[in-house]
Amino acid sequence: MPGFEIFGDEERKQVNDVLESGILMRYGFDGMRNGHWKAKEFETTFAEKMGAEYCQLVSSGTSALTTALASAGIGAGDEVIMPSFTFVASFESILALGAIPVLVNIDETLTLDPAAVEAAITSKTKCVMPVHMCGSMADLDALQAICTKHDLLLLEDACQALGGTYKGRQLGSIGDLGCFSFDFVKTITCGEGGAIITNNKQFYINSDQYQDHGHDHVGNDRGAEIHPAMGYNYRISELHAAVGVAQLGKLDAIIEIQKRNYTIVRNELATIEGVTFREVPEGGEENYSFVSFFLPNEELAKKVHKALGKGGVDANFYWYTNNWHYINGWEHLRNLKSFGNLSTDVRNQLEKLNNTDFSKSDAVMSRTISSLVKIGWTEEEVKERAAKMKAAIKSVL
Ligand SMILES: *Cc1c(COP(=O)(O)O)cnc(C)c1O
Repeated sequence: MPGFEIFGDEERKQVNDVLESGILMRYGFDGMRNGHWKAKEFETTFAEKMGAEYCQLVSSGTSALTTALASAGIGAGDEVIMPSFTFVASFESILALGAIPVLVNIDETLTLDPAAVEAAITSKTKCVMPVHMCGSMADLDALQAICTKHDLLLLEDACQALGGTYKGRQLGSIGDLGCFSFDFVKTITCGEGGAIITNNKQFYINSDQYQDHGHDHVGNDRGAEIHPAMGYNYRISELHAAVGVAQLGKLDAIIEIQKRNYTIVRNELATIEGVTFREVPEGGEENYSFVSFFLPNEELAKKVHKALGKGGVDANFYWYTNNWHYINGWEHLRNLKSFGNLSTDVRNQLEKLNNTDFSKSDAVMSRTISSLVKIGWTEEEVKERAAKMKAAIKSVL
């Protein structure tokens, strides 16, 4: 999945455009920037590519999530429903606003279980935040129907699923808001960066202001701008945006190579009795960044994960215990470890985590292994890898 594998002359050229003018900031200094507006260029190109009206570039995927929530009016005491299997950014972005993360079970899509979402809705719920983990998506029609019925926002975290589609539409463009990360290990990278896309003009205007101290960005005298509401600084630098412009030009090729490599691995694993694959909702197409598969039970999954390592196959993730993408690994969250005080609302909700039944998620995650798909592999190398994986898995099953 990582765009950093193909960093090259295109990125250097874009960065040099910025270095030559010396204008490292995305706003202002119009006469000195040699006509280069890398952040704006990225936003225009990206919105068009994603089929969205608007794009706001920010400093990270995490700040994109916070900015998206803030732009939609979510704040202290509001509940946001999120999955038990995700990156820590999900709850971080919610807590940053004083809002309340409500963690619910996932299903064999490795994303939000719609039934668990519906069961978690209260009078304080404002938003449902599916996270399209490891390149594939949640059942978006089912979640959209729940959101419409209960008048909730649907915010897609597509940080790991750039380039995947659902019923012909880009992931991230289907909910009220969609967020992306361009950190160093994502499908394309800015070094650090993130983006929000939306078709809602007011959310876009709010996010534009929120990520830059509330500036209204009207006129061309930054010092004279007014501040309709309080914001924060989640701006991206022009240098980071420049890297992103070059990487965006490579996105289609990246997805194509991932699909080729994924298909070789998947076809090989599909011949093994006892191996099954994550469920992809009908009408969905993955971005092919991981091959995620199930073993019959926890014990076999652990053995297979070990055997893959011993067999010389790198980059296989057993999220259930060996990583920090599942609630099992979030001791700091479950034990309310915070440098400062948490609000009573937040504390009351987090205290429930140790007594919440996540056995449905456990039953899925304990059997799941995700195998990273790299883009630097030649066809020969992928075939060799697939054969090694098969041998390692067969040695256990
Ligand atoms: C990477 C990631 C983020 C956060 O992105 P950063 O740019 O690293 O802040 C959020 N959600 C998911 C699912 C991610 O994988």
